[in-house]
Amino acid sequence: MLKGYKFWFITGSQNLYGEDTLRSAAEDSKKIAARLESALPCSVVFKPVVTTPDEITKICVEANSDENCAGIITWMHTFSPSKMWINGLNILKKPLLHLHTQFNRDIPWNSIDMDYMNLNQSAHGDREHGFIGARLRLSRKVVAGHWDSEETISRIDVWMRAAVGACESRRIKVARLGDNMREVAVTEGDKIQAQIKLGWSVNGYGISEFVKLADSVSDAETDSLLKEYGEEYMMNTENTASVREQAKYEIALKRFLSQGGFGAFTDTFEDLVGLRQLPGLASQRIMAAGYGFGPEGDWKTAALIRIFKLMTQDKTGGTSLMEDYTYHMEPGKEAILGAHMLEVCPSIAAGKPRIEVHPLGIGGKEDPARLVFDGKEGGAVCASLIDMGGRFRLIAAQVEAVTPYRDMPLLPVARAMWKPLPDFTTGVESWIYAGGAHHTAFTYDLTVDHLRDFAEIMGIEFVPIDKGTTIESLRHELAVNDIMWNLKELIH
Ligand code: MN
Repeated sequence: MLKGYKFWFITGSQNLYGEDTLRSAAEDSKKIAARLESALPCSVVFKPVVTTPDEITKICVEANSDENCAGIITWMHTFSPSKMWINGLNILKKPLLHLHTQFNRDIPWNSIDMDYMNLNQSAHGDREHGFIGARLRLSRKVVAGHWDSEETISRIDVWMRAAVGACESRRIKVARLGDNMREVAVTEGDKIQAQIKLGWSVNGYGISEFVKLADSVSDAETDSLLKEYGEEYMMNTENTASVREQAKYEIALKRFLSQGGFGAFTDTFEDLVGLRQLPGLASQRIMAAGYGFGPEGDWKTAALIRIFKLMTQDKTGGTSLMEDYTYHMEPGKEAILGAHMLEVCPSIAAGKPRIEVHPLGIGGKEDPARLVFDGKEGGAVCASLIDMGGRFRLIAAQVEAVTPYRDMPLLPVARAMWKPLPDFTTGVESWIYAGGAHHTAFTYDLTVDHLRDFAEIMGIEFVPIDKGTTIESLRHELAVNDIMWNLKELIH
């Protein structure tokens, strides 16, 4: 599926060198494009070498209007005077990666002559290209290194996934069943600004529309889904009526989302009129099917989860809604225990989830069925998008997920445990200074680097918290960002 996203490989040159050099440039570019195509998760499409302002403008117009084009990769095999690129790059709307590479890895010591130098001159051709990128203040990614090296390819891979995220961001539709949880600040935000900056279409729907769909689900459909549950999970409850109710919700939710073309949805326990339970197991299963979900009306987290899932379609680490819930503060073993009332995605489960039914002390509804499990071990990222008033800030914290230290037999919800980087105190203080939410999009399949590239493409503020973070540097960065982003918003 990721192969459906096409990245155009565009080599720049000029007509000064003659046919032979241009022919060699095209052949070399084809080889690089073919190598990238075979090594990367998305498609890399070779495009003919461009040598004039008209050709450059034309290919940028074509890239903009091709909905399968998820980004362009430029490389200056030879010198390509960059005033030729101004008009094209100025109108380019697709993510741009400037690959600073050279066809030959090593200098051919014995045979090198001026013909070789004239063909293999990325070292200065790409500097001319870099200048125009800087001069135009282009949002772009620069990757330097030999095109055949694993390191170079893996850095392109990171950017590519961010570009896929950008592509999906611009078409996501989020359905809000009910409003935000009353009086909560961090889950609020400017939906117009979200559409302008991120492309998100976020709209509200009455819960009654969903109730009608749930009521129309047939017994036969429900029976067959229950059978599936029995195969995938351990049934740890006698209360099959509660599980049936969630199965109905799952079927109805899938119908609702696919009929409306939605990639993500929210609900809220404060508006469940006509439902017997808060969707628990149902929301968990919908997330596992690749949709985004946000509780308490949290549309920002819902959309992020959907985007992350699409960026990592070929990965198996998992992505879920998460909520920072409670701490373990034993010296040397400090960790965060994350969970939610019900809705954690089983894609992050370490073992086979159990279906259980327990009371929910909030919302005043019947006991809902839910999946209970522990999260996996491994590197993960907690991401939160907040509205700073006039701009969005994406905060990403690199964390190390661990197996919970002990069993928690009375805890009736799915949970994950992790240690923030660089250490507990710095990690959580940074998060709180930055204003990160209690809800996050929690993923084992992305790193802070992916989210940095995503924020760059979307033109939003990015605050990373990882192994190099100190409180002093973070506070300084937040202060500088405030000035810089306020100026940027004034200019635009
Ligand atoms: Mn919550």
